[in-house]
Amino acid sequence: MTAKFKANFNFSLSTDYSPLKLEKEIREFWKKNQIRDKLELREKENKGLLGYVEGPPTMNGIPHIGHSRGRVMKDVRYRWKTMQGYYIPFWAGWDCQGLPVELEVEKLLGVKNKLELLERVGEERFIKECKKVIMKYHREWAEADSRLGIFINQKKAYWTYLDEYIEREWQYLKRAWEQNLLEEGYYVVAYCPGCQTSLSSAEVGYEGSYKEVEDPSLYFKFKVADSQNEYFLVWTTMPFTIITDTMLAVKPDAEYAKVRVDGELWIMVYQRVEPVMQELGIKKFEITETVTGRSLEGTKYDYPLKDIIPEQAELETKHALVHTVICEDFVDVNTATGVVHLSPGNGEEDFWVAQKRGVPVFAPFDDEVKFTTDAGVFNGIFARDADYMVVEELRNRNAFVAVKKIQHEYPTCWRSHHKLVWLARKEYFLRTDKINSKVLEAAERIEFYFEEPKNRFITFLKEGKPWCISRERVWGTPLPIWTCENCGNKRLVASKAELIKSALEKAPENFELHKPWVDRVTLKCEKCSGVMRREDYVLDTWHNSGASPYARFTDEEFEKFVPTDFLTEGIDQTRGWANSLLLEHVILTGKPESPYCAFLFQGLTQDAKGRKMSKSLGNVVETNKLLEKYSADLCRFYMMRKCSPIDFMNFDLQELNRRSYQVLSTLYHLSRFFLQNAEFDEFNPEKFNLEWGTRKGQLKSADRWLLSKLQEKIEEYTLRLERCEFNFAVAVLEDFVIETLSRLYVPMIRKELWTDDPETFERRQTIYAMLHYTLKTVTLLFNPVTPYLSEALYQKVYKKLDARLPESINFECWPVPNEKMRDKALDAEFEVLFKCVSLVYAARQQAKLKRRWPLSKVIVVAPEKTSNALRDQELLFLELVNVKAAEYVQQVPDYVGGENWISASEADIYVFVSGQRDETLVGEGLMRDLARRVQALRKKLGYMPTDVLGAVHIAELEEKSMGLLEPYLAEMAELVRAEKVYLHGSRGEVEAEWHKSELDGKKIYISIH
Ligand SMILES: [Zn+2]
Ligand SMILES: [Zn+2]
Repeated sequence: MTAKFKANFNFSLSTDYSPLKLEKEIREFWKKNQIRDKLELREKENKGLLGYVEGPPTMNGIPHIGHSRGRVMKDVRYRWKTMQGYYIPFWAGWDCQGLPVELEVEKLLGVKNKLELLERVGEERFIKECKKVIMKYHREWAEADSRLGIFINQKKAYWTYLDEYIEREWQYLKRAWEQNLLEEGYYVVAYCPGCQTSLSSAEVGYEGSYKEVEDPSLYFKFKVADSQNEYFLVWTTMPFTIITDTMLAVKPDAEYAKVRVDGELWIMVYQRVEPVMQELGIKKFEITETVTGRSLEGTKYDYPLKDIIPEQAELETKHALVHTVICEDFVDVNTATGVVHLSPGNGEEDFWVAQKRGVPVFAPFDDEVKFTTDAGVFNGIFARDADYMVVEELRNRNAFVAVKKIQHEYPTCWRSHHKLVWLARKEYFLRTDKINSKVLEAAERIEFYFEEPKNRFITFLKEGKPWCISRERVWGTPLPIWTCENCGNKRLVASKAELIKSALEKAPENFELHKPWVDRVTLKCEKCSGVMRREDYVLDTWHNSGASPYARFTDEEFEKFVPTDFLTEGIDQTRGWANSLLLEHVILTGKPESPYCAFLFQGLTQDAKGRKMSKSLGNVVETNKLLEKYSADLCRFYMMRKCSPIDFMNFDLQELNRRSYQVLSTLYHLSRFFLQNAEFDEFNPEKFNLEWGTRKGQLKSADRWLLSKLQEKIEEYTLRLERCEFNFAVAVLEDFVIETLSRLYVPMIRKELWTDDPETFERRQTIYAMLHYTLKTVTLLFNPVTPYLSEALYQKVYKKLDARLPESINFECWPVPNEKMRDKALDAEFEVLFKCVSLVYAARQQAKLKRRWPLSKVIVVAPEKTSNALRDQELLFLELVNVKAAEYVQQVPDYVGGENWISASEADIYVFVSGQRDETLVGEGLMRDLARRVQALRKKLGYMPTDVLGAVHIAELEEKSMGLLEPYLAEMAELVRAEKVYLHGSRGEVEAEWHKSELDGKKIYISIH
C-alpha cells in the first residue's frame, strides 16, 4: 500500500457505531467538565426565563421504562429550549411522603396494618425506615437519570419531607383557612380498610382502581308498618349497609305497582315488575294497583333487625323520618326495583339526603371498619364480612326474598386493592367546590396540545367535589391545626417558629415537623387558656406534591418561575398532580390562575403485547437494567419516534435495533465519512465555508437543493417540537438523514471526493463546507433527542476541526432557517428529477439491467414543464440514471417500441430507455461491476477509503471480457483509487494473494495491494 498523504489525522470515531461505549465516555465528559452546572450560568444571560417545576416521582419503587418516557420528554424540551437561549430551572424533585411510601415500608417490616405498625414498630422508628426507603429508591432514580442522559439538576432537588418544604406547604393551608376554605366536617368518604385511611375522590377514580369483584345480589323486603301483608321490595349488593339503614327512597313522578305474590303485596316501580319477577323466577304474580311515588312518601316501614340492633330502635325516637319512605329524584327506576334503601353512614348521596332533613347519621364503625357495640350483635365484625350474616338474619324474619352472586366493577384501593367502603367520618376538607368556577376558568386558559386529554381533565375538574385532605396515617405533612380540649377552639399554626413561640412547654431544639415530635407540642388556648392539641391527621400526599410551585422555591424564585411554562406527566395525573397543583394555586393566589401555562399529558407505557406493565405479570422493564445492555440514545429516539406522546406506547425491545438504530448509525457513518475525507484534504472550516464556496462559484444545483431542503426541515422540526408532536418531529430528522442525505445527496457528490487532483481542490473544499454545515446542523437538531451521539459527534468532528467552538453542544444555538438558502423553484425541479430517476430505475429493473451498466439513451415523454426541469438538471439526470443521452418530447416518437425499449410511467410522465448495449457499453458496465467487487474487497481488507492502492490484479476473466475491458482500465483505476489495474488470463501469471469472487455466475480472482 502506498499513501500519497501521510496519515496526519488521529482518527477518533471508531469504525463501528458502538453507542454504549460512546455514551459512557460522554457521560464522563459531562461530569468532568461540569457541563450541566455551567448551564445554570444562563440564569444571568438569556433570551427569557421559562419556569419549570418538577413533577416529583414517588420514592417507593424502581424507575421503569414508563417513567423514562416522560423524563425523556422533559429533557428534550429542556435541551431544545436551552439551545434556543432560554433559562429553565430544570431542577429535580422527589415525592417522599404518603401512603405509597408507608405501604412499601409496611411490606418491608412485615406489618399487616396500622394498629400493628403503631404497637410493634412505633412512629419514630417507622419514620426512620421511611427515610431509608426513600434514599434507597433515590439512588436508583439518580442512576437512571444519569444513564438516560436526563439533564435535570440533581443538586437543586427538592424533597417533599423536609421541614422547609413542609412549612411552605402549610402556607397553602393558611390561605385556605383565611378564606374559609378549610373545614372540619362529618362527611362520607371512601375508606380503605387495609390502609386504614380515607381517600380523596380523585384517588377513587384512578386508572385501574375499579376491579371486577364478586358481591351478593340480594332482594329483600321491608314490611309496611301496620299493614297485613304489604312490603317494599328492595335490592342491594352490600347487605351490610342494611345494618345502618334509616330510610327508603322512591322517585316521586314514577308509577309504582303493588304486585300480588303468594298472598303478599310487594311494592316496586311499575316498569321493573316484569324483569324483576323473571329474574326472581316468579311466574305467578298479579298487579293489583298502581300508585305514584309521591303517594308513598311518609309511609313507615318495620325495620326488621331492631331486636338485634337496639340502637336502630333508639334512632326512631330521635327523628320522625327514621324508617320512613321519602321522595328523591335521583332514584333510578331503570334498574332493580325503583325502591332504594338509604344508609347515610355508608353512602355519599344517602348522607346528603339525611343532612338535608336533619336525620341522624348512623355510622357504628371503628378504624378497621369493624362494627362497634352500637351495631348490636354485629359488634366486632368487619363490615364486608357481615354481608351473609345479615342475609341470614333477614331470612329468619321473613324479610329475605332471594340472593345470588354478582360479578361487577367495584372501586378498590389504588394502593392495596382492598374493596373500598364508604363511611361517614370526621375529616378535614378543602372546600374546592366553592372555588370551582375559578378553577375551571384557570383550566380553560391552559395549553393542553391535544383535545382528548384536555377534555378528560376538564370533565374531571367539573365534578368539583370538596377535597378530603386529612389522612389517618403517620408519614406525611402534619395537619397544622391545634384544637382546645376544653372549648373546642381551633388554631392553625403555619410555621415552626410560631409553634416554638406559642408552645405550652418549651419545645425541644430542632424538632422535626413530623409525627410524633410535632404532636408533642401543645399550645395554650387563647380563649379559655385550656390545652390545645394537634388534630391527629397528616395531609393527603397529593397536597404535599401539589404544593411544589410555592414550596420548592423561595419567594423571589416563585415570582420569577411561576406560572411555569410547560409541564408534562402521565395521563393518570389528570386526577393527581395536575389537579392538586391547580386547586392549590387558586387557593394560594385567590385568583383564577393556573400554576402552569401548558400541560402535556403523556400516554402510559405498556409491554410489547399491549399489556399493562405489572409486577405480577413480570413484564416491567426496569430502566437501569435495560440501559446496562441498550443505548440510552437508542431508547430515547425509539420512544419519541414510536408514537404520539399521548398514545399508549407498546414498548418492544425487538424494535430497538431496527429502524431507530439504522437512523442513528447512518448519522454516525455520514459524519465519519465527512471527517475522514475532510481531514485527508486538510479541510479548514474557518477558511472554506459556504460563503467562500459561493464566491468561488463552486456550488452546484444539488448543493443548493440540499441547503434549501435543510431550511425547510429546520422549520418543520422546530414547529413539530413546539406542538409536542415528537413522533412527527423525529420523522422529519429521520427522513432528512436517510432519504435526503444518505440516499440522494451523498451519492451525487461521493465520486468528486475520490481524487486529489489540485484542479478540483476548490470544489472538494466546497463539498466539505456543504457537509460540515449540513451535518453539524443536523447534529444540533438531534441533540435534544440523542444527546450522547450529538455530543460525541460535536466533540469528535466539529470541535476537532474548529477549536473555537463552545465547550459543549449544549451551549450551541438552535438552528434557525436561513431564508436566503430557500429555493422553492429548485426544490420543485429536483422533485421532478428524482421522480424521473426512479422511473428509469423501475424500467431497468423490469429488464434486469443493473444500474451500474451504462445505457445509450433515455426518452422522456412529459409536459413541457417537466422536460424543462430535466433540461435544467440534465448532467445530474444523466449521471444518476447512468445513461449517455436524453431526449425530451411530448409525443412518443415513431421509432420507439419493440423489445429493445423498456419503459415505465407515472401520471403524465413516461420514460423509455434503450435496452440495447453495444460493445463499449458492455465493456463499461463490466468495468463497473468489477470496480464494485474491488471496493468491497478494499473494505473487507480494512483499507481506508482514502488509501491509494499500488495495484489491482484481476485474473481468469473470459478472453472476450478482457478485450471489452481494456479501454476502461484507466477509469477503473481512478474509481477504485489505485495506481494501475492489471488483467491476467490465469492466476499463475503473477505471484499474488488471490481472493475468490464471481461475476455473472463465473469464478474470477482479485488481488490488491
Ligand atoms: Zn388501601
Ligand atoms: Zn379553649
